[in-house]
Amino acid sequence: MKMKRFLWALPAVCCFLVLAQAAYAGNGLTRITDHVYAYVDVKEAGPANSFGANAGIIICPDSIVVIDTLISAREAQRFLRDIREITDKPISYVINTHAHLDHVFGNGVFAGKNATLIAHADCRDEMARKGADTLAQAGKYGLTPEEMAGTAIVLPDLTFTGRLQLYPGGLEVQLIHVAPSHSPGSILVYLPGEKVVFTGDILFTAFHPYMGDGDLAGWQQTLDFLAGLEADYIIPGHGPLSTKQDVADMKGYITLFDRMARALTAGKIPPAEIAAEMTRILPARAQGQWLIPANIETRYLNKEADRH
Ligand SMILES: [Zn+2]
Repeated sequence: MKMKRFLWALPAVCCFLVLAQAAYAGNGLTRITDHVYAYVDVKEAGPANSFGANAGIIICPDSIVVIDTLISAREAQRFLRDIREITDKPISYVINTHAHLDHVFGNGVFAGKNATLIAHADCRDEMARKGADTLAQAGKYGLTPEEMAGTAIVLPDLTFTGRLQLYPGGLEVQLIHVAPSHSPGSILVYLPGEKVVFTGDILFTAFHPYMGDGDLAGWQQTLDFLAGLEADYIIPGHGPLSTKQDVADMKGYITLFDRMARALTAGKIPPAEIAAEMTRILPARAQGQWLIPANIETRYLNKEADRH
């Protein structure tokens, strides 16, 4: 009789476990390998969830390495809570993939914990020049004072150019700057032993990319380098866990965007019509469509920003 009752309850228990598992995968960090967890495939991107920016951790023998810190102190605290669900190891390094607000404004939550903040020299330079103004104008990006409460600009402690290799607990982590790309100081974070690469915003998958600070020639060169890396797990700056096909698609996207935007902005077509035509021509991506007119405006119509 007892056994019968147990058997009756079993499907309900299993169902609960499956649901709990699914809920956790949706809200917390996703396991990529034994050593790597990340936020990937964030749905309904908006200012309150860091515009869907991904971030992650590397679990080393004695410490963890954090990659990107999201858009605010509040978001970074959410990230830290999710990290603590997985491991209580101390944080040895925090790496910023580039200077944009949705990737580094949470730095303050991780600073002062004996962690060294690392970025490319051009990333630190950009944060030092623009960070305070961007934070003061966070409302422009749709962020409320409540969402930004406690957020401060915290600059990296250590910078590099070219390449930097870290070996926390013997686990090799390569920080690689190929060329100016999505932003001047955008880097790849590559773990050769795990065949994992964090791309920051060098790769957007299923999101239209932000191109306003981009160097398109250097970006294409960087995507070619990324395509040649031995990597089974590619974690983009925004979007789901990605493949080499996504890297090729990204290169095709920016090449097509540049060709069409140059052609359309050469005439006297109103910006709204250019944006509509570009939206029709470009491959469909599920999120970030608002970036199409923004990219046209900053790169092709505002000549001050059209540096590259
Ligand atoms: Zn970015």
